[in-house]
Amino acid sequence: MRTILITGGAGFIGSCLAEKMISDPDNYVVIVDDLSTGDVSKLPRAQGKNWRFIKCNCNDYRDISAVMLSFPFDYVFHYAAVVGVQRTQHYPVKVLNDIKGISNILNLSKNSHVKRVYFSSSSEVYGEPVDLPQNEYTTPLNSRVPYAVVKNIGEAYLKSYYKEYGLDYTIFRFFNTYGPKQSRDFVMSRFLAFAMKNQNITIYGDGTQSRTFCYVDDNIDACYASFRNSVIDHDTTNDIINIGNDNEITILDLAKKIIQLTNSSSKIVHKPPLEEGDMNRRLPDTTKMRKLIGRPMLSIDEGIKKLIENPVFL
Ligand code: NAD
Repeated sequence: MRTILITGGAGFIGSCLAEKMISDPDNYVVIVDDLSTGDVSKLPRAQGKNWRFIKCNCNDYRDISAVMLSFPFDYVFHYAAVVGVQRTQHYPVKVLNDIKGISNILNLSKNSHVKRVYFSSSSEVYGEPVDLPQNEYTTPLNSRVPYAVVKNIGEAYLKSYYKEYGLDYTIFRFFNTYGPKQSRDFVMSRFLAFAMKNQNITIYGDGTQSRTFCYVDDNIDACYASFRNSVIDHDTTNDIINIGNDNEITILDLAKKIIQLTNSSSKIVHKPPLEEGDMNRRLPDTTKMRKLIGRPMLSIDEGIKKLIENPVFL
């Protein structure tokens, strides 16, 4: 039996990872979340005996230490964070506070018998693209916004705990991910929710900024494969992996595609560009991720159709 901690597990990606983890009866999963943006309705539906939820703030040492000292964790997935472009811009101090959570998790892991810590970093660490596709080793990390700085510091913490204490890590640099259970703070779920109600879709700037969109199943399968080390030719211990899709689409084309696929009468409305944090382009080098999932990734059309069939926006 493996005992696994997932922080931020009542959130979008953490809850999907938890579902996958508990489907294996050899895993016992403890989900912690402070429910700041997460919701208990996102927790796994299965009433199995191999998981439990604890409301807990990772940034509060006493709170998280009580959990981490009570269970013999083998693996930790630290996904808890303040997220969302608007929220992270409005509450930069709250964002910086997440450094405490990262430090707490690593300290408690090195003092117990945790074998590896997995960390959800972000494509934001790359900042404005100087190099496309963005490669884990060669692309410089240029962003200065607090959210990206925190992810960058988090990565430095993981590497340092490995160097000084031998605590193994894997860093996942998530690019835009979408799927059921995603909150409406994110472009895909927001556009879809508006299109399905025939309401106006707002775009900041002219919409020529491009993104890639990764369906959550592809994210989870890649991260789970990394966890299970099931890839013979690519061990991800003490390594960094871009987790994302590499088909670029402009925000304007995304809005048009969603309107067309939902048969909506929504109109596209433009607002002034955001002051910061809205990068021009992002495109991951997915060589490592493709080896991990070992199958084609879902296309954006397939992903949107899946979401239309199962429109859960929380
Ligand atoms: P989310 O907001 O749905 O999940 C984050 C969860 O963390 C929420 O449930 C929230 O309540 C919880 N949380 C926040 N602060 C906490 C704290 N101090 N203690 C305990 N719980 C706390 O967001 P998500 O999209 O599922 O993101 C998961 C992780 O992936 C985050 O670390 C995020 O930075 C990263 N990420 C996500 C994307 C994406 O496209 N969704 C892209 C890049 C990186």
